[in-house]
Amino acid sequence: RINEPKNADINSMRPPAEGDIDKYQRENATIIALVRNSEIANIGRSIKRFEKRFNSKFRYPYTFINDQPFTEKFKEKMSSLSQAEMHFVEIPSSLWEKPEIIDSEKQKKLMDELASKNIAYAKMESYHNMCRFYSGTFYKLPELQKFKYYWRIEPDVDFYTDINYDIFKYMRQTKKVYGFTVNLYDIAETIPTLWPETLNFLNMGDNYKYVNRNGAFQWLLDDLQNPAKNAEAGGYSCCHFWSNFEIGDLDFFRGEAYDSWFNYLDSTGKFYYERWGDAPVHSVGLALFADKKDIHWFRDIGYVHDPYMNCPNRESASCDAGKFTNFDSLLDQNCMTNWIDYSMDDPNAIY
Ligand code: GDP
Ligand code: MN
Repeated sequence: RINEPKNADINSMRPPAEGDIDKYQRENATIIALVRNSEIANIGRSIKRFEKRFNSKFRYPYTFINDQPFTEKFKEKMSSLSQAEMHFVEIPSSLWEKPEIIDSEKQKKLMDELASKNIAYAKMESYHNMCRFYSGTFYKLPELQKFKYYWRIEPDVDFYTDINYDIFKYMRQTKKVYGFTVNLYDIAETIPTLWPETLNFLNMGDNYKYVNRNGAFQWLLDDLQNPAKNAEAGGYSCCHFWSNFEIGDLDFFRGEAYDSWFNYLDSTGKFYYERWGDAPVHSVGLALFADKKDIHWFRDIGYVHDPYMNCPNRESASCDAGKFTNFDSLLDQNCMTNWIDYSMDDPNAIY
């Protein structure tokens, strides 16, 4: 059975007694949610579930983020769902809007073509803004500068297990830079040149110095175990950490390696000429620039964002052990075996 991680002193990370929560020594961390005012009910459901499983026990502050001002109604509703501190942040347009270098006619032509292949959100500019934001500008928000760790949540997600240890203390004590729950193949048509452009970046100047010797390079390139056949984009298998659930060390993203690589990617315009998602971008960056032992699969956390889930084999989990999706036609999208294969030599991994 899958229980809590064994590579750390989990008993030192238990929730404080109820009366002691005000003086609880939290890590320097915040829960982040980019969300629209119109998603008030959907994010409300996520917060309720997240509070019940984790945050009512630890009270980490929330940072709600939006390209529009949050309404009073939104703020009041969120405040009614948790006793934690809440920040409501409006994104400066320089961190959100399409950069001026983008040729709108070229963008339209390419996205018409992509939409004709039934690629979701191809023609929705705000979706491209969102992907670019989470790829490379969220960590530049002034309100996030003081934090070291973030945990991202989204509307309409659910948690299948109680989390009875402080996840951020776990991140710090084990020096993890990134935590995830689901590993799957992306749609190759959305990122045809993400990997070739990444190689262009690495071949410029002395950029190879950024590559981590203990990175998960092989995981990016593996296609031997890919029965989905829709994957493989210019040499990248498309296997990635699903970023709607992610726990990260902001210092990694702010670091010179990741940020200069993002700036190069941004200069290609392909957040708009292709439909690069923040999940493959984070994943490629992590695999290249982080030590793979510092990337952690939270296999003990039951999590679902439709249509995929992580369901641990725990008696207390309210889902079917090992289940990845309710749809048989999507089963071949799971690439967790690749991650396990290539992170096996992690001395801290418990399989
Ligand atoms: P999907 O999971 O890929 O289908 O994409 P979502 O629609 O869930 O978007 C990902 C996240 O970004 C969610 O938390 C959304 O609430 C948020 N999001 C997407 N587009 C916008 C937008 O235009 N404005 C704001 N404020 N949030 C957005
Ligand atoms: Mn979503």
